[in-house]
This record gives sequence, C-alpha cells and structure tokens, in this order.
Amino acid sequence: MTDDKTIIITGAGIIGLACAHYLARSGFKVTVIDKGRLAGACSHGNCGYICPSHVLPLTEPGAVKLALKSLFQPDAPFRVKPRFSPALWTWMLQFARRCNHRQMLEAGAGLKALLDLSMSEYRSLVAEAGMDCEWKEKGLLYVLRSDKGMSSFAAHDRLLTEHFGVRARRIEGDALPGLDSALKPGLAGGFLYEGDTHLRPDVLARNWVERLKEQGVVFLEHCALHTIRKADGRITGLVTGQGDLQADQYVFATGAWMAKLAPGLECRVPIECGKGYSLTMTRPARCPEYPMLFPEHRVGVTPFDQGYRLGSMMEFSGYDTSIPARRIKQLRTSAAPYLVEPFTDTVEEEWFGWRPMTWDSLPIIGRTPSLANAFLATGHNMLGLSLAPATGRLIAEMIRGQDPSIDVHAFRPERFA
Ligand SMILES: Cc1cc2nc3c(=O)[nH]c(=O)nc-3n(C[C@H](O)[C@H](O)[C@H](O)COP(=O)(O)OP(=O)(O)OC[C@H]3O[C@@H](n4cnc5c(N)ncnc54)[C@H](O)[C@@H]3O)c2cc1C
Repeated sequence: MTDDKTIIITGAGIIGLACAHYLARSGFKVTVIDKGRLAGACSHGNCGYICPSHVLPLTEPGAVKLALKSLFQPDAPFRVKPRFSPALWTWMLQFARRCNHRQMLEAGAGLKALLDLSMSEYRSLVAEAGMDCEWKEKGLLYVLRSDKGMSSFAAHDRLLTEHFGVRARRIEGDALPGLDSALKPGLAGGFLYEGDTHLRPDVLARNWVERLKEQGVVFLEHCALHTIRKADGRITGLVTGQGDLQADQYVFATGAWMAKLAPGLECRVPIECGKGYSLTMTRPARCPEYPMLFPEHRVGVTPFDQGYRLGSMMEFSGYDTSIPARRIKQLRTSAAPYLVEPFTDTVEEEWFGWRPMTWDSLPIIGRTPSLANAFLATGHNMLGLSLAPATGRLIAEMIRGQDPSIDVHAFRPERFA
C-alpha cells in the first residue's frame, strides 16, 4: 500500500486537479500548489467540450499555409504573431514537419485512446462521485454555412469514421432550425457528434476542489514554485513563495508555463502558448440548446444553465496577457451568420487562456528522463479539459508502478530529448 507516500503537484489547473483525484484515491497524501488561484488559468474560461470527436490533431495538411498567411493578417483566428524567438521558430519548424497525412493519423490514434479513456472516467466521476458540473449529454453540433464548407467537412467526417470509428449524424440545412431554434434558416447543414458532451469548467473545478479537500488534499494558493532542489538524480525539495516543501514524488502540471520549468527538470519541454479568448454573457432569449462549432468562422458556442459563452482564436504571441478590444468585438460578431441572437449585452467575463501547445499535438505524460521522482502532466493543447481524467489516472498508475491502462509511448517526455 502506498499511503505513507507524499506527493506535491505543482499547478492547480484541471490537469493538476485530476492528478490529485487519482493519487488521493490511491492512498497518497497530496498537496497541490499554484502560483495563482485554483483553476484560475486556462482551465477557467474554456468552451467546456468533452469531445472524443476531436481526434484529429492541429498538425494537419494545410495548417502551415494557414500559419504563414496569418503573419500578415492580425485578425486571423489562427495567428502567429511575428517576433524574434528562436524557441518559437524551432517549434514552428517541428510542427510544420508533422503536418502530413501519415503523422496526423498517428497522432490521432494516440489521442483517440486517451479521449476514450477520459470519457469513460468522466462518466464514472459524474455518476459515481455525483460531481456537479452541469454535465450535458447533448453531443457537439458542427454547423456549416456554405455548400463548400459542408463538402469539406463531410470529407473530414469520413476520415473520422474510416480511421477512428467516430460517427456523426448528418443534418441537412432545412432541418437545422427544427433541431435547434437558435439557428438561423438558410444554413447549409451540420454534423452532430452524439458521443460528445459538455460541462461548465469553472463549476467542475470548484466542486472538484471541494471534494478533494474533503478527502484530505491540501491546496496552497498563491504559492509559486521558484526553484527545484535536486541531488543524486532525484528532487529533494521545492523552494516556493511559501517556504521550502518536500515530498516523495513530484508532479508538474503547469500547463503553458511548463517550458519555464524545463531547465530545472533537466529535460526539454517544447511548449508554446496558444492563446484563445472567450466571452461569457447572460443567456439570450433564443439560447442554443446544443453546444456548437462553426468551422468556417472558427468559433465555438456553449450554453450553460446560467450563461452563454463564445470562444475562439489560436494566437502564438508568447506570454501576452492583453485582451484586445478588436478580438472581443470579433468574438461578438463571429456567431452572427449562424444564430438568431448571437450575443447579449450583459457581459459576465472577457477572458483569455494560454493553451499548452506541443509541436506534435500530443500531451506529455510520464516520468522525466533524468529525475526518478519527477512526473510531467502537461501539453494538452486544445483538449486539456477532455483529457484530464485519463491523464490523472495514468499518472497515478505510473507512480504506483502499475501497467498503464493504455499505451503511453506516444506521450513520453523523452520523445523531445
Ligand atoms: C478559448 C479556449 C477554449 C478551449 N476549449 C476547450 C474545450 O472545449 N475542451 C477542452 O478539452 N479543452 C479546451 N481548451 C483547452 C484547455 O482549456 C486546456 O488544454 C487546459 O485548460 C490546460 O489545463 P492545464 O491544467 O494543463 O493548464 P492551466 O489550467 O493553465 O493550469 C496550469 C496552472 O499551473 C500554475 N503554474 C504555472 N507555473 C507555476 C509555478 N511556477 N508555480 C506554481 N504554479 C504554477 C498556473 O498558475 C495554472 O493555474 C480551450 C482553451 C481555450 C483557450
């Protein structure tokens, strides 16, 4: 039994919380530290989709062309901001090398296993643990405006079915307003992925933290990790803003900040920030029933019990904390071609988050190559919420020395060595 073992998890985003859950359940004494608020960073204002349909990685044929075009388009939803950063350009080069059909399918296979495991873990969490998070089994509806958009999405959908067994229900344009009266008439059609679900991320995090506290997990907010102390190939302690902390094992779940810790962990962690924005408002009178994505405008819409969110953009602009007014304006108007009431005037929150982006679109889950008691759980790209329970479960299995539930080869940290 492992209940004499202590663990410190650095980072209280959704990945850190999931690791805490599975480790506490395995009998470890867990402390979670965060330099800010608990789940106050990228895990706070995202779109809330738990989406096994998102099997295909960002590294797809055509992504490079899009990135190059964006250098000259400040308002492009997918944008690389030109700046001098050797790390960014190395990242881009490696990313570009993987934008081919074969590697896209290989990465997709890794993601599929992780997404499926996560979905079954979420179902247990919601059912057995009774975790309140506004969990809704409505699916995820992709809506296309033009016939061209419809036929290109149909090709994407075929690929998902043929290679991964992920199926959608195709809905013709004239049936869309009957399915969801928030949609305008005259749209080309849609694809409903009925296996996807959605939840409210901040409600999930708040309730999960409460559950974990009841189970004895200790949380230290506003406690930044400054230095990692090491001896003989092991971590011996952490120097933090609230003093020195020691444990038997250490998990690092610091999302987009992970690259900053890499030298202290003696490994390469090529993560760039993929900045996205969201705008949360009160529910419009004609609020969508389904969470929706509009691929032609690259915007997502999520209805909550007490609110309504638009989310979009992928900017590679470093650790930039600004929320430009033009981006918020863009968000407000981007759903207008699709929805009867695309926004309301009562804004609850304007938000940005840094997605932790790896160049191969896969997360980093496993022991570091040089330090025997250090584990990484990061790099979840656009899918951290969807992949959190599987990540927590795998980390707990690895620390307990058990065989992992799925093949973890694709996620190992040493692939960047
Ligand atoms: C607009 C948008 C929409 C999205 N929609 C979805 C979606 O629908 N579904 C989905 O699955 N994913 C979605 N994502 C992606 C998802 O939000 C992220 O992948 C996920 O939140 C990453 O979680 P994390 O725990 O790794 O990082 P974070 O939530 O960023 O947590 C990392 C934590 O580490 C802490 N930290 C960093 N450095 C230190 C340090 N030195 N000391 C102490 N603490 C430290 C930070 O303060 C932070 O709290 C979306 C992202 C965006 C931006």
